[in-house]
Amino acid sequence: MKQLTVISGKGGTGKTSITAAFASLVDNAVLADCDVDAADLHLILKPEIKKTMGFHGLKIASIDKEKCTDCKKCHENCRFDAIDEEINLIKESCEGCGVCEYVCPVNAIQMIDRDSGFSYISETRFGPMAHAVLKTAEEASGKLVTVVRENAKTLAEEKKKDLIIIDGPPGIGCPVISSISGVDLVLVVTEPTLSAIHDLERILGVARHFNIPAVVCINKCDINEDNTRKIERYCKNNNIDVVGKLPYDTVVTEAMIHEKNVIEFSKGVFSDKIVDMWNKIQRRLAA
Ligand code: SF4
Ligand code: SF4
Repeated sequence: MKQLTVISGKGGTGKTSITAAFASLVDNAVLADCDVDAADLHLILKPEIKKTMGFHGLKIASIDKEKCTDCKKCHENCRFDAIDEEINLIKESCEGCGVCEYVCPVNAIQMIDRDSGFSYISETRFGPMAHAVLKTAEEASGKLVTVVRENAKTLAEEKKKDLIIIDGPPGIGCPVISSISGVDLVLVVTEPTLSAIHDLERILGVARHFNIPAVVCINKCDINEDNTRKIERYCKNNNIDVVGKLPYDTVVTEAMIHEKNVIEFSKGVFSDKIVDMWNKIQRRLAA
């Protein structure tokens, strides 16, 4: 089974539109939305949810006021100020470190599971999909990415699919590392702006660090041709293939408004370029 993750140095580079377009071109794949902090692949793919599972991220303290002797040790030792002087827990501040449970002399505190979100198994018009939502202000997205990837793997085995296409999170943080670890290829979507070039170099550095082969797509390549040339030069010098150069095209937004991917919506130049890029990626995955 092969795995491809589509990532970008920051949000809004067209990563999800490209992933959704790939979905049209394969019939042997499971789709996985690992951008759990801002999941929006479902807006285009309209999954029909078949199974919902609760997700427990970090633990949270639970104080038994009946047992509490008001010694205030938990309040004094919590370095996140998550227990006030009246020994009430401030849920939003609790980091689940367990120090209060450790210092409580009468075992009045227990660490319990925290409801942090949901993961889903779904069907789409392009095949099975694993996805998730993280509750607002929860900070366990790396762990939830791992859950989505495990669900996608199970789905692929059950449905006898031999490819997983992962829509990864933007940036270079923990969720990105969780979404690329162990995959066969990473596609980095970038734009020809100075900040995007900087982000691209950082994200390619992360992929290199984990020994994961990477290829690049330059989206909106015609908005600054000098910067596009800079990206191509950088990639050439670092032996990284630029597998796609997509022009700025309003068809991407129009397709989204119609809740379709660009391949379904239009048979124009933009779609041809996506098909060409997908063929190159497939060759890389098969190599
Ligand atoms: S688990 Fe840690 S952060 Fe949460 S209340 Fe206890 S000491 Fe504070
Ligand atoms: S450490 Fe335990 S006994 Fe002391 S105030 Fe906190 S909960 Fe109460």
